[in-house]
Amino acid sequence: MPTHKIKKGSLEVICGPMFSGKSEELIRRLRRAEIAQQNVAVFKHAIDDRYDINNVTSHNGTKLPAHATANGAHLLEKVQHENYTVVGIDEVHFYTTDIINVICALVENGVRVIIAGLDMDYRGVPFGPMPTLLAIADSITKLKAICTQCGADAHFSQLLAANRPTIVNDEPLVLVGAKDKFTARCRGCHTIDKAFYYSHMKDTHSNG
Ligand code: ADP
Ligand code: ZN
Repeated sequence: MPTHKIKKGSLEVICGPMFSGKSEELIRRLRRAEIAQQNVAVFKHAIDDRYDINNVTSHNGTKLPAHATANGAHLLEKVQHENYTVVGIDEVHFYTTDIINVICALVENGVRVIIAGLDMDYRGVPFGPMPTLLAIADSITKLKAICTQCGADAHFSQLLAANRPTIVNDEPLVLVGAKDKFTARCRGCHTIDKAFYYSHMKDTHSNG
């Protein structure tokens, strides 16, 4: 006998370095959902005031109106009594890990959640909530930028030397900026502090 199944939502993750077209791709998917007359809501983190706090904005100028939210609880408040069928979140790496349960709850409630974020910080280390979100995603799109040094595909974001604080290991992870602070680099052209990188990567394994 056929059983009645409750339709669940889904989680799509768009990741990659800065300038790889994550916001462009997020905007493209959300516009298509709007054309399909879905009830769409778009969110970004309030810390991201680079271009316009009220829009998700791509480095190429494309934009979509968005609600700025301070944290996961704030985002939850805004979606709670609404009947959104599609929720987009840009720069999701800016949120702390409390965003993970909010996203899981939306997906459980049948919402199509589309998120865009940096998979790695500028040191090449997995960024905040991204590793978990990538693990639980229904689909992942990993985009590449163009390396500004050699023209190869780039999947790292390089913090420009002029912006680098002197104490490398205590560098703040959350630095908001665009071409004034960052550039895209391929693996060969991306420079990292190797000692810090390897010790951090070893420590991030949860199975000991
Ligand atoms: P992201 O959200 O990944 O930072 P955006 O969608 O905001 O990316 O911007 C992508 C746009 O950035 C590209 O379409 C292109 O016009 C521009 N761009 C600037 N620098 C680069 C680069 N090094 N590689 C690729 N695109 C770049
Ligand atoms: Zn390169």
